[in-house]
Amino acid sequence: MYITDNHMHIHDHLGLEAIKQFRKAGGTHVFLVSKLSTHYNLTPARGRDYNEIFQKHLKMVDQARKIVPGAYAVIGVHPAELTILTQYHSLERAKNIMMDGLEVAIQLIIEGKAVALKSGRPHYPVSKEVWDASMEVMHHAFTLARDANCPVQIHTERYTKEGMMEIRDMAKRTGIQPEKVIKHFAPPDIEGFKELGLFPSVISGKGIFDAIKAGPRFVMESDYMDDKNRPGAVLGPKTVPRRTKEMLARGVDEDLIHTVHVDNIESIYGINMDEDE
Ligand SMILES: [Zn+2]
Repeated sequence: MYITDNHMHIHDHLGLEAIKQFRKAGGTHVFLVSKLSTHYNLTPARGRDYNEIFQKHLKMVDQARKIVPGAYAVIGVHPAELTILTQYHSLERAKNIMMDGLEVAIQLIIEGKAVALKSGRPHYPVSKEVWDASMEVMHHAFTLARDANCPVQIHTERYTKEGMMEIRDMAKRTGIQPEKVIKHFAPPDIEGFKELGLFPSVISGKGIFDAIKAGPRFVMESDYMDDKNRPGAVLGPKTVPRRTKEMLARGVDEDLIHTVHVDNIESIYGINMDEDE
């Protein structure tokens, strides 16, 4: 049986020990997402400076793969980078650095070093100018992903139907398939996402039991942060395997669980999970 965590980080708390815990709890596949430039103590002055961040991340994922062979890299430019970069650059310049950074990421994805792009828009209140710039960056991410035929994991403001409709409409305008746009930290509104066409990566708190009642059109994530300053923030690395086993114990059909952890993942990322086990 395969168990997949669609969104996890490795940073400075447990490090690779988190991957060992995930494995021990029954996890078999994990998508490791790159973090903010500040987490790597780097201040990008131009787009290609993101390459150093991505290379560090890819190296870590290589190490994780020795513990969990089904470990994949997700790379990109977190929307909060705009707030960081505008401390050093004009808004226009910061926006361009982020767009160029996304191009560095997509090149690595095309080369097969990572499987998805990360983008989005701020989850905290920002000025209209910053919001508009973020929208342009996300639009660029969608365009790059469409051309490379890869998915985009998006980090966004708190879920509202209106907000998600706006993002779905942007996806349609760029021509990326809406189901290749994965809403990270999604609530268990499976019906809502089905109507929208976007794909939910549901945060695996207790709400996950509501998600599975509405059918298997979702994937699961812990968003484990591995941040020593916020060790209890969000969920731990064992969460997805544990919740999955709880579902089985509660009598959830094994075929549904297989769809969540295998069929959905293979169709989103275009991968064969058996090759990595
Ligand atoms: Zn995250």
